[in-house]
Amino acid sequence: MSSEKSLSGCTNAPVLKERGQHEVFCGLTSIIWLHRKMQDAFFLVVGSRTCAHLLQSAAGVMVFAEPRFGTAILEETDLAGMADAQQELERTVEELLSRRTDIRRLFLVGSCPSEVIKLDLATAAEKLSEQYFPKVNVINYSGSGIETTFTQGEDACLEAVIRGLRSSNDEQLVILGALPDIVHDQMLRLLEQLGLKNVSVLPQVRVDDEVSVGSNTHFICAQPFLGASFEEMVRRGAKPIFAPFPFGANGTTAWLKAICDIFGISKETFEAVTDAPRRRAEIAIEKVSKILTGRSLFLFPDSQLEIPLARFLNQECGMKLIEVGSPYIHKQLVGPDLQLLPEGTTISEGQDVDK
Ligand code: SF4
Repeated sequence: MSSEKSLSGCTNAPVLKERGQHEVFCGLTSIIWLHRKMQDAFFLVVGSRTCAHLLQSAAGVMVFAEPRFGTAILEETDLAGMADAQQELERTVEELLSRRTDIRRLFLVGSCPSEVIKLDLATAAEKLSEQYFPKVNVINYSGSGIETTFTQGEDACLEAVIRGLRSSNDEQLVILGALPDIVHDQMLRLLEQLGLKNVSVLPQVRVDDEVSVGSNTHFICAQPFLGASFEEMVRRGAKPIFAPFPFGANGTTAWLKAICDIFGISKETFEAVTDAPRRRAEIAIEKVSKILTGRSLFLFPDSQLEIPLARFLNQECGMKLIEVGSPYIHKQLVGPDLQLLPEGTTISEGQDVDK
């Protein structure tokens, strides 16, 4: 495996900033994976026919399969009477909750059509939450496609969830970010073997999996696009753990090590638990790195996954980096990965597809 080392890597590299027309999927797209993770939640998009089409085609779910998301379509005529639109939304929610008694969390998801922006979804969510308390918790966030990318939908959703978390002084670890089920289970198993107690993951699978936050909460992001959620955790008093993101054998080892250092887990325990899975990961990566070594890589900005991905493809698969673009660079979050990129890599933020 190749490794181009430098002390500060791209930490202080100048960032090429592009501020023009960008082309990405909007935040509503994240509902596709979030509704699978949060098994008692329903995502009600308040939007236009375009939003409904996007969701339907992205999810590929048949209507009669009763998916846990839907769109309350605001017609142009609703523009004339916003009060009517609010009432219409309340009526839709009532109809939905009386038909789907399994729903415990209802997300009202804003979108970008101007008629939706004028609606006060925050007040609507508060009012509906009071009305349906304690059975259903109603939360609102925006999945709008203006100036955001598809992964920021998850960020906005988690930020709203964190705002509503109960405060506590319990010593605990919270992991932020939706992961594929198998990875999620492996991660929790490893953390348990390492001796960590009181570990929670956001998003919670069910609302009853209670997660709290406070000054004895340490948290770490498992996904690099959670800037707003990160800020909200800090605002609630939690302490961030910084590490490269868990991509590849090196990234995952460093990520787990950073957690263990905070919770005082010994080097011996760490090595005893992680050595075998790390070796398995290295063998799997070696196979693909034979194809990738020496090839050049240019990453267009799309999801905010680019910097950790570039770190993995360079450091663990031997690829040569030309340019690494990201829609938005949260320097604190991706700092440890930036530091591991080879000096001289062009780092760019934002895009301008008209150029
Ligand atoms: S939120 Fe905006 S960008 Fe996304 S589907 Fe609806 S109209 Fe399109």
